[in-house]
Amino acid sequence: MDRHQFASDNYSGICPEAWEAMQEANSGHARSYGDDPWTQKASDLLRDVFETPCEVFFVFNGTAANSLALASCCHSYHSILCHELAHVETDECGAPEYFSNGTKILLLPGQEGRIDPEAIPLTVRRRTDIHFPKPRVLSLTQATELGTIYSIPQLETLGAQASECGLKIHMDGARFANAVAATGASPADLTWRRGVDVLCFGGTKNGMAISEAVVFFNRALADEFEYRCKQAGQLASKMRFLSAPWVGLLRDGAWLRNAQHANAMAALLEKRILEIQETHPGQIRLLFPRQANSVFVELPPDVAESLHASGWLFYRFIGAGGCRWMCGWDTTESDVTALTADLRAALIRKGRAAF
Ligand SMILES: *Cc1c(COP(=O)(O)O)cnc(C)c1O
Repeated sequence: MDRHQFASDNYSGICPEAWEAMQEANSGHARSYGDDPWTQKASDLLRDVFETPCEVFFVFNGTAANSLALASCCHSYHSILCHELAHVETDECGAPEYFSNGTKILLLPGQEGRIDPEAIPLTVRRRTDIHFPKPRVLSLTQATELGTIYSIPQLETLGAQASECGLKIHMDGARFANAVAATGASPADLTWRRGVDVLCFGGTKNGMAISEAVVFFNRALADEFEYRCKQAGQLASKMRFLSAPWVGLLRDGAWLRNAQHANAMAALLEKRILEIQETHPGQIRLLFPRQANSVFVELPPDVAESLHASGWLFYRFIGAGGCRWMCGWDTTESDVTALTADLRAALIRKGRAAF
């Protein structure tokens, strides 16, 4: 088996609870296209978790979940406001614009991956004439692309701005479970109680094979959503295998345990990196506060290269030396030790070479 990698939480396999539920679902026949007991049960469990009668749909991946959820909030002449590093802008190949038939994405600045609330009214009011697409949705990522979290007060501020500007709120929750684990807040307090209309709740990175839940708190927006899914090729005919893993993860809280574990492993990695920082001052630097399951560090480019050469896979998309290390449900303490030992060795080699 290949070693554990820190490139992404989607490098992992399927967690036992999801696997077990898939196996349970794999007995006999069931109605297709979501009309089965597993899909009913998974939707009910999500309504329990969110303490509200939301509408729930299961799709294959996060790009589809985000794009279709955003399309349900917009007409083609509307615009979507999101952070400049948001996945919907940088990693979805234009799918949000495509599925909403031309909606424009407007980019907002903000420190550490979080949208600066002041930028919302500025962007909305910059143009109010008929020649510019009308702002309609604020899209937030929780946890953010930089592994930071919007706290409840921060969500409250953003919610107030959105409401004042007449914007609906979409939340990209590919790592929503990690945000719940990090804040200790209830899923309801992090979403609809702060004005979120629709959440894309990630299952894949939490430990499933394939599945994201689109959760509409604003139920009017869910009108005819099943047609959007079907047209986009996102209506699974054997839907029970997309929904059963949710039952497996939700019925005894495994979704939260998985996220707590991933966050704890990232906290351990952060601690080890801070120790290395002490012995190698000026060589390595934490880039953002670690709040969820990722750690971002700046390394000398040759040290990052040397880690790559020794078989470590990870993304380096923040500047030349910025590296992202992501933990998941299956990261172990010895995985963290293996990475930090190689990092230390690479720094020592570099130090020697300088003499
Ligand atoms: C992983 C991820 C998604 C989903 O990506 P897919 O590859 O389409 O499943 C969405 N948003 C964020 C922030 C992500 O990290």
